[in-house]
Amino acid sequence: MKAAVVHDFTKPLSVEEVPDPVAGAEQVLVRLQACGLCHTDIHAAHGEWPVKPRPPFIPGHEGVGTIERIGPGNPHGLEVGMRVALPWLGYACGDCRYCNSGRETLCEKQINTGYGMDGGFAELAVGYARHVVRVPDEVDSLDAAPLTCAGVTTYKAVKESGARAADRVAVFGAGGLGHLAVQYARITGAEVIAVDINEERLATATELGAEHVVDAASEDPIAAIQKLGGADVAIATAVSPIAFEQAMGSLARGGRLVCVGLPAENELRLPIFQTVLGGLSLHGSIVGTHHDLEEVFELHRRGETRVLRAERRLEDVNEAIAQVLDGSAPEPRLVFEMTPVAGDRSAAAATVAHG
Ligand code: NAD
Ligand code: ZN
Ligand code: ZN
Repeated sequence: MKAAVVHDFTKPLSVEEVPDPVAGAEQVLVRLQACGLCHTDIHAAHGEWPVKPRPPFIPGHEGVGTIERIGPGNPHGLEVGMRVALPWLGYACGDCRYCNSGRETLCEKQINTGYGMDGGFAELAVGYARHVVRVPDEVDSLDAAPLTCAGVTTYKAVKESGARAADRVAVFGAGGLGHLAVQYARITGAEVIAVDINEERLATATELGAEHVVDAASEDPIAAIQKLGGADVAIATAVSPIAFEQAMGSLARGGRLVCVGLPAENELRLPIFQTVLGGLSLHGSIVGTHHDLEEVFELHRRGETRVLRAERRLEDVNEAIAQVLDGSAPEPRLVFEMTPVAGDRSAAAATVAHG
């Protein structure tokens, strides 16, 4: 099969032929139709986080496709031909205190798709049957892909923020994650402020329902948001620690910062005095559960969310990464569209099922 492979953190990805993966026990083999490019894939390809993936590996954790084969053991209700998503939480043990309390994204034995196991920048990928998530028929694969990480992550972040209708929510970073965060925050009924350094992303945020936008490249977001009364919730998805510090500074008393972005510079400076006197809190939020993703797909099926994405060919993976990094991508999310192999029955069947 064709795949985009990371061989070296300092070199571009290589699009090459690699052996087809094989579904092991309780796994499924998925023929991909689409896979989003999350900024996490860029951190992974560059080895930017404290815990690094081991090259060679295939990134991608927004993969969506149809099941082509089912490995031995419990199929967990899945059948050949079903359309599924392969999320970041590729595997969790199912037995620990986190897995047993609806917090499987905290499982210490988890394996992450496109990081600890090969991901969706490929024609085929293997997923654990218990962790892949079915995609409703009415949800397009190209939309389902960004929802599989950017969607579920920000849906969960908004959920964990406790945002309510009378609140003011500031979303820092209005890119792949942020453009969906704005929409989930709107769904709670809250007043939304979007902050970015890219004017196009701010225009999109307005289109998606943000009442206020702040261009942090030309205006101090702390002053701008405090002038509005301060934010009850700030959700930081930006890829820069300064945005986290500004997000904390923009909170109203009693406010909560939800940290979502994972910048390479792994440090955040907080003023203790203002945090204590303001009764502020800080919360880390990592992706979302299987059930959260089902809810995200359901909201999309009902027409409550819009995914703003531009299609790319897998061959253009390095150009796509460059566009995300320099801010020139035409939409908040780029999605690789896999071209079906001629004569491939499952791909053809999926197209028919799709209308
Ligand atoms: P993205 O590149 O699509 O979006 C980032 C946005 O932040 C861009 O629009 C950019 O212009 C903006 N930005 C950059 N500097 C800024 C600043 N100083 N102030 C305000 N905005 C600024 O990236 P993405 O795919 O949305 O991912 C964002 C981050 O979230 C990445 O670090 C990624 O690894 C992380 N992430 C975390 C989780 C999680 O579960 N916690 C899940 C997915 C991604
Ligand atoms: Zn576990
Ligand atoms: Zn992601």
